[in-house]
Amino acid sequence: MIKSGQINVQTENIFPIIKKFLYSDHEIFLRELVSNAVDATQKLKVLASTGEYKGELGELRVEVILNTEDKTLTIRDRGIGMTADEIDKYINQIAFSGAEEFVQQYEGKEGAEQIIGHFGLGFYSAFMVAEKVQIRSLSRHDGSDAVQWESNGSPEFTIEAIEKADRGTDIVLYIAEDATEFLEKSRIQDILNKYCKFLPIPVFFGTKTEYIDSPEGEKDENDKIKRVAIEVPNQVNNPEPAWTKAPVDLTDDDYDQFYRELYPMSFENPLFHIHLNVDYPFNLTGILYFPRIKENVEVQRNKINLYSNQVFITDSVAEIVPEFLTLLHGVIDSPDIPLNVSRSYLQSDGNVKKISAHITKKVADKLAEMFKKDRKDFEEKWDDLQVFVQYGTLSEEKFAEKAKGFSLIKSTAGECYTLDEYKEKVGPIQTNKDGKTVFLYTHNADEQYAFVKKANDRGYDVLHLEGPLTPHWIAKMEQSIENIQFARVDADSLDKLIQKTEELPSKLSKEQEESLQPVFESVVNKEKYQVKFESMSEDESPIIITQPEFIRRMMEQQKVGGAGFFGAFPETYNMVVNANHPKIGALLEKNDEDRKGTVKQLTDLALLAQGMLKGEALNDFIERNIEQID
Ligand code: ADP
Repeated sequence: MIKSGQINVQTENIFPIIKKFLYSDHEIFLRELVSNAVDATQKLKVLASTGEYKGELGELRVEVILNTEDKTLTIRDRGIGMTADEIDKYINQIAFSGAEEFVQQYEGKEGAEQIIGHFGLGFYSAFMVAEKVQIRSLSRHDGSDAVQWESNGSPEFTIEAIEKADRGTDIVLYIAEDATEFLEKSRIQDILNKYCKFLPIPVFFGTKTEYIDSPEGEKDENDKIKRVAIEVPNQVNNPEPAWTKAPVDLTDDDYDQFYRELYPMSFENPLFHIHLNVDYPFNLTGILYFPRIKENVEVQRNKINLYSNQVFITDSVAEIVPEFLTLLHGVIDSPDIPLNVSRSYLQSDGNVKKISAHITKKVADKLAEMFKKDRKDFEEKWDDLQVFVQYGTLSEEKFAEKAKGFSLIKSTAGECYTLDEYKEKVGPIQTNKDGKTVFLYTHNADEQYAFVKKANDRGYDVLHLEGPLTPHWIAKMEQSIENIQFARVDADSLDKLIQKTEELPSKLSKEQEESLQPVFESVVNKEKYQVKFESMSEDESPIIITQPEFIRRMMEQQKVGGAGFFGAFPETYNMVVNANHPKIGALLEKNDEDRKGTVKQLTDLALLAQGMLKGEALNDFIERNIEQID
């Protein structure tokens, strides 16, 4: 034995703490140990390139070997290795005090478990799953002796000389009774897949011995048939993922292929991608993909993955990128994102803020560039982009400014415009007496055909606007672009929607209107429909069912949420009677019964035009009309 001793413990035995309180994230031990092995290998490569290491490098790879018979899991590298002195220094002293500090910092803190997933505890995380750990190492230095450090999870350790032919380090974990899940091949495979998929040095995984129930072979002491099968290890990683390459070396196909590498369960290709590459004032690389975002902003399955030097850290990046960007997919890799801090700190960290602002800018610039370069293609993608762009516009002012230039609106005729272009197009005829240009729109050109046609007949253009965020987005555009106003075609009579002159004179006197009012009220639910007489053009319908823009927006915004109103808004409509329509004037000449019959018929027709005549009322209407046919 070279040395035995006690690790210098300040905190009362940290090992049980390491083991217990990091429960939910036990699996990260493997990430820590494999990345240490990768680091040791990369260090050797650096030493070789500077000439400090003159020996043979050999095949540099990391191996993870599961031995279910011995109940061990070994992480093997052919890196720099450690001498007894180095083990004493790095493992007994530095790493230990690091682990101790870590435990002190987070012990018992709320939310600590989430932080821990991001922040590696380092070598000592091995004790989350192992009852005994050995480090078997042969240093790169010529003439070194191989050594073995061993500890059983108490502060006591031993270091002794061993035989070891190959340069590098084996970390041997004797898996504890309560951690046997880590002796399952599929479990280890899954963990490696999650954390090690893109590590920069080839990582192989294999099982060493397996019990296979087959009639051939010798029996072991437990009377099981044993076949010593050294499985050919499989490579688990791609050491050169697309984001580490230069964009000029990648084709669109390569990007799509990498997308599927990231999300093997995805069948759809993304719309397009952005390759991020920054080295000042912080380091960041990555590829962001634009998915086809569905109508309802559904829960995202494919999340952005955060890496630090190709080691997977987390797929909850909400603290690092603005919320609207979490609709995107892909990878961000930055060694500059501090992972060892709490989430709230992360949000206020200067680097993180810069990263977030940079990504937002890149995304906006990319969209602007696409719009400029190939507008037709951009317009074709718009249906898939709209939710994203509107979300960004509503949540990030910087993005909103840029997005004004490429946010599109589509007319019912199928043409796309920017807001400025549209204002210019419809301004000459759709500007009201107060100087506001009114953008007429419908959410469904088919359902609102009657309204759209009436507007078109007057020479007005109608937009087709829909989508879950559109009501909020419209409100924001009205604030940020001068003298424009949106109005849905059924929000009022056309004369009122774009009011150009003072009101037309009415053909009905006040008394005549008052005498007709009760007849209209008698055919509808008075709580829901408010009867109003208006002096409109003769070519407007005799009755229009409208819903004031304001009330409808309230209800829509309430549906999407975030508007903060005091309670549910009752659904109400206006029943606007055109006092100048000849059929309304003619009512005055009719007897009570005919008058009521005509009013009922006109009202039903108005409801029908809005798609609001349904169920029993619709059936009554049909039967009544059939009867009238002779
Ligand atoms: P960190 O990797 O953050 O420095 P660790 O606790 O994981 O902390 O490791 C402590 C130190 O032990 C490392 O810095 C390194 O010097 C040494 N070490 C750990 N694993 C290996 C290995 N496989 N080969 C060589 N050195 C290692």
